[in-house]
Amino acid sequence: MRALVFTEIDVVSMMDVPEVIAGAGEEIISVTRSGICGSELHGIRHASFRVPPLVMGHEFVGLTSNGRRVAVNPLITCGTCSACLRGETQICPSRRLLGAHLAGGFAERVAVPSVLVHEIPDELEWDRAGLIEPLANALHAWRLGGSPTGQRVAIIGAGAIGLACLEVARHFGASFTAVADLAPERLAVATALGADLVTETLSETYDVIFDAVGVAATRAASIAQLRAGGTTVWLGLANPDAGFDALDLIRWEKNVRGMFAYNDKSFVEAIALAPQLDLRWGTTVPLEEGARVFTELMHGARTPIKALLEP
Ligand SMILES: [Zn+2]
Ligand SMILES: [Zn+2]
Repeated sequence: MRALVFTEIDVVSMMDVPEVIAGAGEEIISVTRSGICGSELHGIRHASFRVPPLVMGHEFVGLTSNGRRVAVNPLITCGTCSACLRGETQICPSRRLLGAHLAGGFAERVAVPSVLVHEIPDELEWDRAGLIEPLANALHAWRLGGSPTGQRVAIIGAGAIGLACLEVARHFGASFTAVADLAPERLAVATALGADLVTETLSETYDVIFDAVGVAATRAASIAQLRAGGTTVWLGLANPDAGFDALDLIRWEKNVRGMFAYNDKSFVEAIALAPQLDLRWGTTVPLEEGARVFTELMHGARTPIKALLEP
């Protein structure tokens, strides 16, 4: 079968790979859409937990062998540690991610544990279903931000995660939503989704700020523009630097929450929420063009905002 493979540092290639085989407790999913994630664009530039050769892709939907339309929660967790028993499976110390620790969705087919497979609503088109995984992140971030209905919310970064955060904030009734990004074409999408303010950099103060970029400047801004006692949720993974004013954080009781993923409950809720949202900022691209699109995005192309590979 055909797959987009991370072959060496900085390189992805389309190639023929062996057909997948379902192990015990697994099923085969015929992939219909598989989103390219910003974490993958950064993740192949240096040695990390993604080890080549690897079929990446953790944001995928598809069909089971008996034709069910499904989304796959890509996080495999142990189910027995204290985090899992608390229901916080997203921070299970032995968590493994499909498409990172194991083969993922940048392929015609993928074998996945059956427990991670969830049916999706009939009315949800594939192009929108392919955005369920970023939406699950946004839903979890909303919770970590204290579910700020009726409050002023800002989002730094109008990529897929940022736009999903915007849709969640508007759906749950934030009183005001601001989106900061350097790319005008991305801000135009935020405006179309109903953001009250779009800007290159935040200047007012907010109750809750989501940093969906993850560099020193955005982390510093996410604290500087927070009201006293407010919360910023850091989801962006662009680099490890922080560079924020710790005394501002201390004097004004500001909260920082790190966030990487979601539990199965949030994933299932994202599936139920998806039909009620716009989710039209994905761009479907044939899998065969995956290497070209991935490489362009890796080298800084600002569009598509979310490429969905279609085998
Ligand atoms: Zn991702
Ligand atoms: Zn666990």
